[in-house]
Amino acid sequence: MLYQSTRSKNLAATGPEAILRGIAPDGGLYMIPDFSAVRLNRKELLELDTIPMASRILQALLPDFTPAEMDELTEKAYRGKFETEDLTPLVQVGDRYILELFRGPTSAFKDVALSMLPQLMTASRAKTGMKDEIVILTATSGDTGKAALEGFHDVPGIRILVFFPNNGVSAVQKAQMVTQTGGNVCVTAINGNFDDAQTGVKKTFAAAAENPETLRGVALSSANSINIGRLAPQVVYYFKSYADLVREKKIRCGDPVTFVVPTGNFGDILAGYFAKMLGLPVKKLICASNENKVLTDFLNEGVYDRMRPFYKTTSPSMDILVSSNLERLLYMVSGCDSALVGNLMASLNETGRYQISAAMLQKIQAEFGAGFCDDQKTAATIAAVWKEYGYLMDTHTAVAWAVSEDYKRQNPAEPVIVLSTASPFKFPHAVLQAIGETPAVDEFDCLTQLSEVSGLPVPKNLAGLKTAPVLHDRVIEKEELVEYALKKAGEAQW
Ligand SMILES: *Cc1c(COP(=O)(O)O)cnc(C)c1O
Repeated sequence: MLYQSTRSKNLAATGPEAILRGIAPDGGLYMIPDFSAVRLNRKELLELDTIPMASRILQALLPDFTPAEMDELTEKAYRGKFETEDLTPLVQVGDRYILELFRGPTSAFKDVALSMLPQLMTASRAKTGMKDEIVILTATSGDTGKAALEGFHDVPGIRILVFFPNNGVSAVQKAQMVTQTGGNVCVTAINGNFDDAQTGVKKTFAAAAENPETLRGVALSSANSINIGRLAPQVVYYFKSYADLVREKKIRCGDPVTFVVPTGNFGDILAGYFAKMLGLPVKKLICASNENKVLTDFLNEGVYDRMRPFYKTTSPSMDILVSSNLERLLYMVSGCDSALVGNLMASLNETGRYQISAAMLQKIQAEFGAGFCDDQKTAATIAAVWKEYGYLMDTHTAVAWAVSEDYKRQNPAEPVIVLSTASPFKFPHAVLQAIGETPAVDEFDCLTQLSEVSGLPVPKNLAGLKTAPVLHDRVIEKEELVEYALKKAGEAQW
């Protein structure tokens, strides 16, 4: 099976090539052109435990790997690494279900994919006979950096370079990154904001491509959700949560289920659409946004317009105005019309907006719903669910829960699963405030405070942070990033 660029038919790649490249040479994203060609036994799948289920699904999406190879990779990625062996537990809360995606090594939902990506990259390197060492370049606003560091540390043949805005991440997030161990990791703060870090990283890629001689024997790559190797592992928990409902006799196999997804870059929810294309009975996928509701407007009106004010909210991982993975959805609903997708993306680049046809919008609306929720309602939702059900959720999850209310009111009999993307302990300040407590000044003290108030334990990976030794204290100017990144990437040893 070959993957194709969303922007041009002739740029095909095998799964391993797509994983190593990340993005297609024309700037498009790698996609499966025909889901009906993917072979997957759904009945059998639903009876498996999570890790073997992951292996089966990933092998179907990346058939260059044999079942035995994929079994080994999924075992290495997941066994013993999460709080529970089923990786992503499903819990009932009132008349809905919450799919907890944050039980991984850094308490972020990105762990699900970033535990697997390093395994897929290493194996892809071997399969394609790649001799070059891979250097992963990551700009982060907080969560991705730590999850990527945790996934890639001490992986042979790969090194990882993370840049974060020195004053733009929380104290806990910063501590998570600067205490990272491993001989192949380098974490650097920049005097600048997240966009400066992101721009610097993009410029580094461009500089390396322009002048291949500067980095002999090194290939730069990326770990964000444009990489198909990061998207594919996310398909698994849609099947897994459905299987849980069948196993617990909450639904019968074949009954449709609706998922509500807190959305930023559209990766998580798109994986749900992949699951549906692979035969999972999904009624609707509901896209939940915070005040940066560019996707709500798009899904309601068919116009994508990023030229609007940007809000900093209490759900920062969803503060995004350009959702990269939407490009893949456009490709799917246009019948793999790469010329059309290329034009829409060019329009987004040049004018900041694009509009799709009424026919395309209708197709999308048949599959997706949308809603949004501001900070005030987010906080009220955390408080209400805590009070009513004794379940404590983080701000991102609360956005999705709030959006699920309307849907549930209109469809009371339908099973609804709300995806939970972060532990409340990752955003202790906002969560404490929401439930009417006065948060401690020091964010580390907020962790203990939240634990005392809620009776829940602080996740192990966060508990030891305050006293863990700082291993990375380098701060650079944003203007230095490109030169610094190229120099670091070229060094034989860190
Ligand atoms: C990354 C992230 C999201 C958004 O996921 P996308 O795949 O980008 O839509 C939501 N919540 C949290 C906590 C995240 O870290």
